[in-house]
Amino acid sequence: MHRCLTFVAVLAITSVVTGCKTTTDKSTVLDHPTVDSPSTATSLSSVTPGADVLFAANATQASGSFDVPTATFSFQYVLSGAPDEGYRWIELVEPDGNRLIENGVQRDIPNPPGGVVGNTLAVIVPNKPNYKVKPGRWTFKVERAGLPEALQRPSTVKAALVTKEAPNKVTAAKLRVHYWFFDGDAITAENAASNPEFAKITGTFVAAYAAAGIGIVPSYGRLPASLNIAYSFENLGKLVESVPRDDDAINVVFGKMIPILSVVAGLSTHLPGPVKVRGASGIILMNGAGRVDTPQARGLVLAHEVGHYLGLQHTDVDTLDDTENSPTNLMYPDTVTPWAKFSEQQTQLLLYNPIIEFVP
Ligand SMILES: [Zn+2]
Repeated sequence: MHRCLTFVAVLAITSVVTGCKTTTDKSTVLDHPTVDSPSTATSLSSVTPGADVLFAANATQASGSFDVPTATFSFQYVLSGAPDEGYRWIELVEPDGNRLIENGVQRDIPNPPGGVVGNTLAVIVPNKPNYKVKPGRWTFKVERAGLPEALQRPSTVKAALVTKEAPNKVTAAKLRVHYWFFDGDAITAENAASNPEFAKITGTFVAAYAAAGIGIVPSYGRLPASLNIAYSFENLGKLVESVPRDDDAINVVFGKMIPILSVVAGLSTHLPGPVKVRGASGIILMNGAGRVDTPQARGLVLAHEVGHYLGLQHTDVDTLDDTENSPTNLMYPDTVTPWAKFSEQQTQLLLYNPIIEFVP
């Protein structure tokens, strides 16, 4: 029995973590599709600082607003606050007054924002297909959680708007993925590109995204062995803060297991994950080998976790018209098949993410 798990825990902060273990008993080795140089990609995205969000002493809710320019194809709004606070969306209101999130409940959003570790929070619009972003002033309300002494003080949360313009013409899409390895492990930043086992992991992952028209552009980084400890769920945020993340990429850390998530092979710290905002990115943690059967299965776990980071929910939660709750979908919360794919509407949602670059 292989379950993909969604954890809810109340700690110093209130956190929801989406993690997944996916295995298959059929192994297939997939060729590594060619990925062009990242220099040919055009991001069409930009980051604008937002107004600080201010929590008064003893207040658990705060409000804010931001202006979405015309010609915005999609946007992400990112909040980064105090290290001992966690945040969740209570309200998100379009310029015409329509509420996409109301009283903490997502309305009209098939892929609601979900899991968070640590003190950053993001939301992506659109998160349903065939939706046009409404330009103008958006308003929101956010709630903080934390230990009583943390909530007694006032708090300032930094905000940023990451917008993506509509492309004139798209011939390909690209996603940068930065793989992080710990010094002293078998696979390292130096040998990953030529390591046969790592090629099998990334081959499965790259093929899954190639099927959705998204090319993966890899880069590699080293982390000190001293950070490769068994993080408990409670202190996982420390790892997120310690990793020198690449904010223009999805950061994937290959490290030790998190004991409390003992059946989990991979974990995305956010759903959706903050992108492009300096110092705000979360990580995907890939637990040590042995939790799943094969490198190919680990590649499927990676594809699934990146799906979460980019904003996709499990198939048993999302309400997209064409997402079947079946092992042939990569976001199925249990064992998936080696040929699992994203649905067309899931793919549309992926392409709204500002971290995904278009090649004109
Ligand atoms: Zn999952």
